[in-house]
Amino acid sequence: MDPSSREANERMSGYDDARTAPRALATEAVHAGRDDLARQGLHAPPIDLSTTYPSYDSRAEAARIDAFAATGAEPDGPPVYGRLGNPTVARFETALARLEGTDAAVAFASGMAALSAVLLVRASMGLRHVVAVRPLYGCSDHLLTAGLLGSEVTWTDPAGIADALRPDTGLVIVETPANPTLAEVDLRAVAHACGSVPLLVDNTFATPVLQRPAEHGARLVLHSATKYLGGHGDVMAGVVACDEELAGRLRQVRFATGGVLHPLAGYLLLRGLATLPVRVRAASEGAAELARRLSADPRVAQVHYPRIGGAMVAFEVHGDPHDVIGGVRLITPAVSLGSVDTLIQHPASISHRIVDADDRRGAGVSDRLLRMSVGLEDVDDLWADLDQALGAMPAGADGRHADEGAAGRPEPAGAH
Ligand code: PLP
Repeated sequence: MDPSSREANERMSGYDDARTAPRALATEAVHAGRDDLARQGLHAPPIDLSTTYPSYDSRAEAARIDAFAATGAEPDGPPVYGRLGNPTVARFETALARLEGTDAAVAFASGMAALSAVLLVRASMGLRHVVAVRPLYGCSDHLLTAGLLGSEVTWTDPAGIADALRPDTGLVIVETPANPTLAEVDLRAVAHACGSVPLLVDNTFATPVLQRPAEHGARLVLHSATKYLGGHGDVMAGVVACDEELAGRLRQVRFATGGVLHPLAGYLLLRGLATLPVRVRAASEGAAELARRLSADPRVAQVHYPRIGGAMVAFEVHGDPHDVIGGVRLITPAVSLGSVDTLIQHPASISHRIVDADDRRGAGVSDRLLRMSVGLEDVDDLWADLDQALGAMPAGADGRHADEGAAGRPEPAGAH
């Protein structure tokens, strides 16, 4: 293993299981959540589709239900009912917790169900106030701005977090790199500014391959698992990685509100995790190359590409962004991201349409911004498609890219 990949495969440690040696991220991705399989004479994980489980001892069952109501800890022994927990989903949760370096993870039916559960946990403790940094994914922004779950939000920039905190603040929320501008925040500084208020980092874009927010002080790490964790555009899911205390509360809310993940989705997510490091690194290489080519193109006004890398590229064109969306042939014009194939969308029309136009623009989401999720196709084929889709689009007044770094590498615009 060369030194750079050794560094990238930084050792994971601190898990309370039978392993004696810490394992690298790539190894955890393949083996976590499967450690018991060989002992059971299995290779692929079984899918448990049961919604309920027989028990001839109602007194023991009552005690287990009481214990769950008290702590939210996963019941010992056989499962009780699908809404309390499912063994196949638990494998995915175990694996994701290992990758993020947390005690536990709790899976949900979607990323929005996961965020809703976090808000409900904090509101149930009387902590309804949320401090959040824009941009966030459009529906996350909407959930907070509209106060749909009874929360009240204060929007601020990272430097304003400490001043925005109140006695009833239950949560600070950031995304980094953020959807859709790919703006990044300094997680360590933000975690410090939060003091004792839990910091939730939406790590959907980075994945634990590029960034593990818990190592920087985040108490909750949220994913739309619909994206890179599943990785093939065929699973809708969300997950929160956190300490066991918060995980217990999240399981209780999941039990009470019902936003559970289906076991088939749990199986597909576990399978997706096995290739996560390989997919993210390969797609990131393609994305970095496309960001370079776009930033050298006079039809492109600005390119946003995160300092930490990744498979997302955002760019603004001098002409009409709808022409690019209408012009792609290999690339799929569709919302969402993180699949093996490349997707492109216009945030002002789709992913962030629900955000008030002034708030959206104020967060750096220009009406000319396009967001591309780079997949695993050959980069020259992707560039050929983008080039023809950009077509006869006008060049900028000075005929050159506005944000090109000295070495031709795009500077990450919009980073905090
Ligand atoms: N967080 C981010 C960064 C997202 O991009 C999305 C969806 O696009 C979500 C959360 C919501 O996830 P889901 O669509 O799985 O509910």
